[in-house]
Amino acid sequence: VTSCLVQTVMTQSIISCAPEDSVVTTLAIMNKNNIRHLPVVVNGEPLTMLSIREFDIACQHLEALSYTDELTELPNRRYFMGALDREMARQQRTGTVLSVAILDLDHFKHINDTFGHDVGDQVLRHLGEILKGRLRGYDVAGRIGGEEFGLLFPDTELADAVTVCTSLRDQIRDCKVATSAGPINFTASFGVAELDEQYPDPATALIEADRLLYVAKRKGRDRVASSLDASLAPLQPSYVDVCTQTVKRKVTQQ
Ligand code: GH3
Ligand code: MG
Ligand code: MG
Repeated sequence: VTSCLVQTVMTQSIISCAPEDSVVTTLAIMNKNNIRHLPVVVNGEPLTMLSIREFDIACQHLEALSYTDELTELPNRRYFMGALDREMARQQRTGTVLSVAILDLDHFKHINDTFGHDVGDQVLRHLGEILKGRLRGYDVAGRIGGEEFGLLFPDTELADAVTVCTSLRDQIRDCKVATSAGPINFTASFGVAELDEQYPDPATALIEADRLLYVAKRKGRDRVASSLDASLAPLQPSYVDVCTQTVKRKVTQQ
């Protein structure tokens, strides 16, 4: 044996991988070469032996973590945008309806400033629980920004999505979150849009929901705005306009 080459006695390839190697590539190499186990060596010392199945489960776990928001344990922005992309493609293939909403907490800065960031986090976590409990299995709720959440309603017309959001708005307004600073009330505003083929990509589709969200904010917050009502009554003057008018009045009075 000592006189022949390793490759003549080995029937399988030898591979090694480093912590920074892609697990997906490593798994593919293991599968291709029918390698069923992977020794884990730390500082030159063999630590354990992972079966390909254990390795696969660990990979799936890591992948799920990369799509999850740590604070609320809801899907994160990356997952939400991917889901929106997939649903938009399905809608174009099958011609079904699809609605999307953005939920933004009202005056959340005030909650942080009054009670502290940690209490703000507790409110966000509580909202995560409300969303998980309220939405149907095939709806998607994801944290797409600090205090902003995306809601995706497949096979749902605008009027039905508005009904779900209005009921969520009520549930949020009526709840008292038990926080370390005592029970806290909070409210949220929603912009809801039905998507049609005119939206080329997820980011553009969210712009319409975002526009409607700002309608809800300008109309006084704690409400749901959608294209069902956006074209009706003209908007109240925006806060910027109100502020500008107030400043002008003060200047003329002086
Ligand atoms: P509006 O009703 O117009 O939405 O007012 P707002 O105060 O909610 O909006 P603004 O954008 O001024 O402030 C958002 C705040 O959300 C500021 C930021 O510090 C806070 N925030 C963002 N991410 C987190 C987070 O993970 N935890 C906590 N506690 N606060 C966060
Ligand atoms: Mg906000
Ligand atoms: Mg915001």
